Amino acid sequence: MKAWATAALDLLYPALCPVCSATLGSGRRDPLCAACWLAIPRIDPPYCAVCGVPFATLEPRALGSAGLCGPCRIEPPIWDYARAAARYEGPLRDALHAFKFDARRALARPLADLVVEQCGASLTADVEALVPVPLGRARERERGFNQARLIADRLAASLGCCVKPGWLTRVRPTASQSDLGAEERRANVRDAFVAAASVAGRHVVVVDDVLTTGATAAECCRALRAAGARAVGVLSVARVV
Ligand SMILES: [Zn+2]
Ligand SMILES: [Zn+2]
Repeated sequence: MKAWATAALDLLYPALCPVCSATLGSGRRDPLCAACWLAIPRIDPPYCAVCGVPFATLEPRALGSAGLCGPCRIEPPIWDYARAAARYEGPLRDALHAFKFDARRALARPLADLVVEQCGASLTADVEALVPVPLGRARERERGFNQARLIADRLAASLGCCVKPGWLTRVRPTASQSDLGAEERRANVRDAFVAAASVAGRHVVVVDDVLTTGATAAECCRALRAAGARAVGVLSVARVV
């Protein structure tokens, strides 16, 4: 479309923020308005070196000298490290809902930007591939896309690494995790994923939109380790704190 036609359309139908419906002005991070973008509750250091939980939320005595939280010192997770850009609260929660359930795919851009800004520097240069958490076939057909894949694609473009969706396959359908408790979530996703032989000896990073209890990400990491991955990380846009 010609530039003048685009400008005329913008005047007639101004672009609105998918979270608060404000008209997009300056300082925005398309398609989020500046106010929503700035109000995202980002996770900054210090956080646990393994699970990424921000330390401000923990009792001071739970902090270990190795920079690990209490739970990680007692029972280390299956991943080498997990990082999330922000807390699953406020405008970020609304943005992720709009992204997933209202199919506002353009939100993949600011959501991935957020991950790059908050977590990009903590990734080592030897990451060989990003692997989005696969959706069940039926769920992906219903939604029309895999939100983790869209984010992984944009992350890869910014970070200069590749996306290997085929390296992780969901081998059985699972119930929605949203109504389940922590123990039920683990049981629900147990053995739900299988990794490709290509992961052997590689450093791969599992990408998801939200880390809740971490059950799904942990099961993905278990499959990657079983297939011989050398190092396994987890990157998510948001985490429940
Ligand atoms: Zn907004
Ligand atoms: Zn931890």
